[in-house]
Amino acid sequence: MSDLEAIKSSVRNLKAYTLSPHRASVKLNQNENPWDVTAAIKAETLRRLEDRKWSRYPDFIPTSLHERLAQFASWTPEGVIAGNGSNELIQALLMVTINDRKRVLISEPTFALYRQVTTVLGGDVISVPLNKEFKFDVDTILKVTERSSIDVVVLCSPNNPTGCVLSDDDLRRLLRVAPGLVVIDEAYHEFAGHSAVPLLNEFDNLVVLRTFSKAMGLAALRVGYLLAAPKLATEIRKALLPYNLNAFSQTAAEVCIEMYGGELMPMVQRIIGERERLFNALSSIGGLSPVPSQANFMIVKTQIPPKSIFTELLKRDILVRDVSSYPMLDSYFRVNVGTPAENDALIKALKEITAAPRTSDE
Ligand code: PMP
Repeated sequence: MSDLEAIKSSVRNLKAYTLSPHRASVKLNQNENPWDVTAAIKAETLRRLEDRKWSRYPDFIPTSLHERLAQFASWTPEGVIAGNGSNELIQALLMVTINDRKRVLISEPTFALYRQVTTVLGGDVISVPLNKEFKFDVDTILKVTERSSIDVVVLCSPNNPTGCVLSDDDLRRLLRVAPGLVVIDEAYHEFAGHSAVPLLNEFDNLVVLRTFSKAMGLAALRVGYLLAAPKLATEIRKALLPYNLNAFSQTAAEVCIEMYGGELMPMVQRIIGERERLFNALSSIGGLSPVPSQANFMIVKTQIPPKSIFTELLKRDILVRDVSSYPMLDSYFRVNVGTPAENDALIKALKEITAAPRTSDE
């Protein structure tokens, strides 16, 4: 047996989840908060870390963070798991549910990691495409979930990259028919002003995932969390490595929660306002049509090939996401909402690019 034959064929056939290595001053490709966390948050985090021994492990279970997360999300601490980014929690959740031929339903185009992790674990992905308006095709999702013995449904709401949201009524219908778990990844919920968390009180088969990497401005420190019924959380914890979350990140996350109202919430409000301004500005540029989104990003249909848009923007020091290889999105790019100045730069650049005469090979 050659060394590579030791690797599962499902893994060998898979392309790695990667991100283009390009850099630019105006960075609108990863849906991050364009403003950093504030000086007050950084100072308080560093003060607490200075008082702490760096030679000692973090708490085995980060109880104080779990308590704050529970209070912040209005859920019970026993049903909270903090992770090294929500990516880790997607993996842990799928590790405890999926092995050979188990079925995960997703609705594509969506965040690529659900398909990636399911495939690595030997599960089968059942994909229900979004409809033509890039919304969830709820009737088909319900039908397939009910009839095809789906073990786990993973929906992203607001969905990355389209920004559509699953309503509470539709989620309730899904939770009632699902034979297994329903996972709602609400990495961008702050921008939609909507959360599935209240439904945890009604349904034991619901799992909600959240992150500190977007609205909370903490992408560098890798913090995410999962909310579920305590007995489910107890099982999912078994797939985590000990001390998965380092003390620095735990501390910063606690400070972000404590200071959210004064320091971070105003940024979220500004991003929502800028999203509407950006949407209107892009709608008025000939050859471009943005898709309405409830997140901090949007996809934009372009008559010029998306790869040319990407390259032309990069020449102007602006980085967006080329999503043209995603299902249904061959004539789209994705852009996240930046600061007002960054959005102005993007709008100006796109006006220039779309107005320029094109060569025939495009
Ligand atoms: N879920 C979705 C929908 C995302 O878009 C992302 C990041 N792009 C993640 C989860 C991962 O977030 P984290 O940084 O918390 O691992």
